[in-house]
Amino acid sequence: MSKLKCDFCGAQDSNVNPVISGDNASICKSCVSAAFDIMSGKEPADDEQFSNNETEQKAIELKLHTPSELKALLDDYVVGQHRAKKVLSVAVYNHYKRIFRKNEIGEDTEINKSNVLLIGPTGSGKTLLAQTIARYLDVPLAIADATSLTEAGYVGDDVENVITRLLQAANGDVKKAETGIIFIDEIDKIARMSENRSITRDVSGEGVQQAMLKIIEGSVVNVPPKGGRKHPGQDMIQVDTTNILFICGGAFDGLEDIIKRKKGNNVLGFNQTKKSKKDDDGLISLVEADDLVKYGLIPELIGRLHMIATLNEITENDMVHILTEPKNALVKQYIKLFEMDKVNLEFDKDALLEIAKKAIERKTGARGLRSILEDIMLDIMFDLPNYKDKTITITKDVVSDKKEPKIA
Ligand code: ADP
Repeated sequence: MSKLKCDFCGAQDSNVNPVISGDNASICKSCVSAAFDIMSGKEPADDEQFSNNETEQKAIELKLHTPSELKALLDDYVVGQHRAKKVLSVAVYNHYKRIFRKNEIGEDTEINKSNVLLIGPTGSGKTLLAQTIARYLDVPLAIADATSLTEAGYVGDDVENVITRLLQAANGDVKKAETGIIFIDEIDKIARMSENRSITRDVSGEGVQQAMLKIIEGSVVNVPPKGGRKHPGQDMIQVDTTNILFICGGAFDGLEDIIKRKKGNNVLGFNQTKKSKKDDDGLISLVEADDLVKYGLIPELIGRLHMIATLNEITENDMVHILTEPKNALVKQYIKLFEMDKVNLEFDKDALLEIAKKAIERKTGARGLRSILEDIMLDIMFDLPNYKDKTITITKDVVSDKKEPKIA
């Protein structure tokens, strides 16, 4: 179905910016108000659409990097997870191409939004992927936890509050927010409960999924500018969520069993010789939409999250890479901090492995690395200015038995 378009700036008819049409031309609300300002001798405000379309288009084109450029950027900050990085890069590329080159799409084709579902254990880099992409693209990002969301009317965070948060991340710029990214974590925790788990009202399950569906598939949401509960008489801001990219994440514990059951003998037969944790990791990557329905996500929601990427559990080896390789790797940061006091800092390979082992024991993925390292470094940092022109080496004993580091 063809939508009305403004002949001045090309904007499509929407609730936020309606287009009115005469016999030979159409004009949108923003252009009407800009035209009014010009006629009455007032300078149009910066954020008004009138005649800004071309500049806006150009600025945004600059941001439209290819999937391989996006992946290369993710490689700078996120260790491993290559498949997930690829899926995300393609999804993000398609998403922004769909928005910013909409003129080329024409009226006869509709390109669906490619929202993303990241499935992977806690601390494997799901949030980090979303954060890195958003920072690089310079688009606002809002992060929410699905478990804190409730249907409107219940105690908790209305789903729409996430939009308010995005608006705040965009410094109140509605247009910027409308092309931002929303990351919703722990989406697996709002899976529909099985009948025997809850027969009372469903505060955190299907109702929330339905509420989320509404904003994910694209609608105009009235949000209170400062968040919190809506109340009558309050000024509302309208945000169109059509072009917001949604990235959802979750660990989906137990999903392997569902996949295993579906694959039945095939997978069991395959696993007979070498049944290990590694095989189960591989299983997750075979996930299909119907497995997620069995898990308890409503089909409509899964239909809107059709780019699915799985992340692997962080191994000991990955942990060492995470400590040392990303641009903002913790070890690099400490070395820099020490350098500023003219102290040379070194880590033995065994020490790094020991830190990795400790992090694995915590079962919080790579998230545990920071606090383990902070604990080790505190005393050394305290005396740092006294070690000018020396070399401090962190050995395995420093990590495992809190021994003194080597100072030479
Ligand atoms: P989750 O998968 O639970 O969303 P996060 O992305 O929040 O995990 O990871 C927590 C922290 O662990 C990150 O801030 C980052 O420092 C580190 N981390 C996790 N995974 C990776 C990874 N693959 N590469 C680099 N750092 C990682």
